[in-house]
Amino acid sequence: MPLRFYNTLTQELEEFHPLDGKTARIYTCGPTVYNFAHIGNFRAFTFEDILRRWLRYRGWGLKHAMNVTDVDDKIIANAAKQGKTIEEYTANYTKAFFEDAASLRLETPEYVVKATAHIPAMVSAIEELAAKGCTYSSEGSTYFQIAAFPGYGKLSHNDFSGIRSGARVDVDEYEKGDARDFVLWKAHKENEPYWDSPFGKGRPGWHIECSAMAMQYLGETLDIHAGGVDLIFPHHENEIAQSESITAKPFSRFWLHSEHLHIESQKMSKSLGNFYTLRDLLDMGHSPEAIRYLLASVPYRKKLNFTFEGLKAAAKSIERLRDFEARVSGTKLPAGRVEEAAERSREAIRQFEEGMDDDLNTAEALAAVFEYVRAMNTALDEGRFEEENRWDAARVLEVFDCVFDVLKPSGAESVRQGAESGEAAALTEAEIEAYVDERAQAKKARNFARADEIRGMLLDKGIVLEDTKERVRWKRK
Ligand code: AMP
Ligand code: ZN
Repeated sequence: MPLRFYNTLTQELEEFHPLDGKTARIYTCGPTVYNFAHIGNFRAFTFEDILRRWLRYRGWGLKHAMNVTDVDDKIIANAAKQGKTIEEYTANYTKAFFEDAASLRLETPEYVVKATAHIPAMVSAIEELAAKGCTYSSEGSTYFQIAAFPGYGKLSHNDFSGIRSGARVDVDEYEKGDARDFVLWKAHKENEPYWDSPFGKGRPGWHIECSAMAMQYLGETLDIHAGGVDLIFPHHENEIAQSESITAKPFSRFWLHSEHLHIESQKMSKSLGNFYTLRDLLDMGHSPEAIRYLLASVPYRKKLNFTFEGLKAAAKSIERLRDFEARVSGTKLPAGRVEEAAERSREAIRQFEEGMDDDLNTAEALAAVFEYVRAMNTALDEGRFEEENRWDAARVLEVFDCVFDVLKPSGAESVRQGAESGEAAALTEAEIEAYVDERAQAKKARNFARADEIRGMLLDKGIVLEDTKERVRWKRK
């Protein structure tokens, strides 16, 4: 079965391939940097990381843009309270967000784009909407008139045909069913930051930010737009109305939305005060890998109920896999390869892939890995696992870890950063090929310890080896 995603727009599972047959162009709504992100926010970002990694595993290139909302009502109010400019105020939280993202091993999107650095693009988008007759102004603000867009409601599957024209809102977030003309450009208020524009002094609304930046970096029709379910309405509905009014083309082919993280049966949110930041949990002694595992282990369209027992169980699961890895590489084994164990590893990878292809069903993918580990532990106990089955096990764990990325303990982070920070430290192709050859010779000579050492050393430098029937392939992580 091919890779399928559930598309909120069509409410169906649909086969995915990028429009150009090569590169998936993805836009995700990033953080509003007015505070530390909580782990509910990070559930959404972890799902997006898993999405990226699985698309790559399936051979697609990635062009992913994520915005950073660094101007909004809360930011302006909080900065004013602290006597800071919005730049000063948001700089710390932006830095904190990317530190947290790195602890959770979230890959950095190809384009991380700040709202305040793209005001001209937003102004031009509003000008285009005005030229098409989709806007009106009132008391110095400019609004999008939703009656001008017949498709309004198609993402959230609401019937807004009877809406009153002219009822409008200035706030960025509002309740479902409460369809109103939304603000594109907010009139300047005294003592607030502002930008000049053809519609007067002011600042952009939140929705236009994403439409303008998504189209600037990724073109008029995206392959995938993703975010948390709370963004379906009004935010994503409004993004569609704006973008499609400008281009008359579909704004995104796929819309993927991740469910909330709950705590004690309530959505974790800053306004309810029932949240933990990543830092809170790290300070309590939990590992970032356990948190990442917990966030990734529940399929993204299911609610995830956060509990400390769940977090402990996540840590235990990682430990089980690390123990298996250590057992396989640390046990003296008889030469040879047991075909049954080899077949079991191929079966595990097939099941893992099937799970992930099925709308990123991480629970099914994990089940495949754990069933394999259980079977191989028994095989090891009973002498049905030999020297060359090590490679079968390594391959299963490698496939698992290129998505879940939890096997390397966080203590090893400095190695990872070291490898990334210095371009000079990176190996050249010739050097890598030389190591690959040396490893092949070591294997031939049955010096598996040296072969393992070379594989591990290359992995530390970000080079992944893949043993295929014909030859050994390598790629940079
Ligand atoms: P924000 O920084 O509030 O704009 O939110 C960033 C992302 O986190 C959005 O995609 C939200 O949908 C998502 N989000 C917010 N609260 C939760 C939660 N409790 N569980 C999962 N995702 C959430
Ligand atoms: Zn957005």
